[in-house]
Amino acid sequence: MAALPGKSCGSCTMCCVVLEIDHFEKPPGKVCDNCILGGGCKIYKKRPEVCRDYECNWITDRDLGPMLKPDRIGTILMDDPDSDDYLAVCDPAKPNAWRNPLVFRHLLAVAKEGRTVIAKAGTNSWRIFESGQTAPWV
Ligand code: SF4
Ligand code: SF4
Repeated sequence: MAALPGKSCGSCTMCCVVLEIDHFEKPPGKVCDNCILGGGCKIYKKRPEVCRDYECNWITDRDLGPMLKPDRIGTILMDDPDSDDYLAVCDPAKPNAWRNPLVFRHLLAVAKEGRTVIAKAGTNSWRIFESGQTAPWV
């Protein structure tokens, strides 16, 4: 899916920091060696396929407005590539970013649609239930 008109990564580099990238043996939360924080990618034209293919949900979902851009909320909203789970992957430096009422309202709405919603920060995970309750998740 392509970026929606009017949406672009701009100065956001959250996925280059927060996500695990096997290609570079980059653990979650470590800044990619090619990342210029807030400024993009040093090897943009030669970046690997995994980087070319990745798009977070903010960039493809018209229902996610500017206030939910990852670098504003400290959280990447995305579908789990290995399951049907919906993820809020937080910057490990902001492990409670998913509790921001704006983010939490969105996560709750997704849970009410029947999706399994998981917030992650480093090695910690929490499930957000449609009731609004949350619980540590393994
Ligand atoms: S997290 Fe989303 S908006 Fe931010 S750089 Fe990655 S794809 Fe772009
Ligand atoms: S290679 Fe570039 S696009 Fe890929 S994670 Fe590193 S900084 Fe981001």
